[in-house]
Parts: sequence; structure tokens; C-alpha cells
Amino acid sequence: MFSVFFVMLIIIGCTWVFMKLMYPRPPKGYYRPKVGDNLTPRHCNYCGHSLAEWRGIVDGEHFFCNDEHQADFKAGKTYQPQN
Ligand SMILES: [Zn+2]
Repeated sequence: MFSVFFVMLIIIGCTWVFMKLMYPRPPKGYYRPKVGDNLTPRHCNYCGHSLAEWRGIVDGEHFFCNDEHQADFKAGKTYQPQN
């Protein structure tokens, strides 16, 4: 009876190691907001996408979901939805 538990323990251990190797954790604070981050949803000034403020870029009065949109907005481009 003990060997059954022992084998199960080894399987669980191997699975855990495997998962750790296959899916390493992203750097801390990448997906989760840090304490004090602004969770207010805002709309990207370029594409109109709604995003929590901590995940985007705040540039004075403007807000962007990534630096690419920030650069395109400053370049005076208009958003072209990609299908
Ligand atoms: Zn955007």
C-alpha cells in the first residue's frame, strides 16, 4: 500500500518539475499589478482599446496600450484595425 503512495508522489514530483521547466514564471509583477498601481480602465488614444492604467503608458493627457501606439500617435498616424 505504501508503494502506491510513493509512486504517486514521484509522479506528482516529476509533473511539477516538468511544468516548472516548460512554463517558467514570468518576471514578478509582469501580469499582476503592483501595490499602488492604478487599476482604472483607460482607453488608448490611438486604437481606443480599453486597458487598466498600470498596463499601459501614461503620457501626460494621453494614454496608450503600448509604446508602438504611442509612437504612431505622435507620428500623426491614424489607427488601422488589422484583420
Ligand atoms: Zn492602442
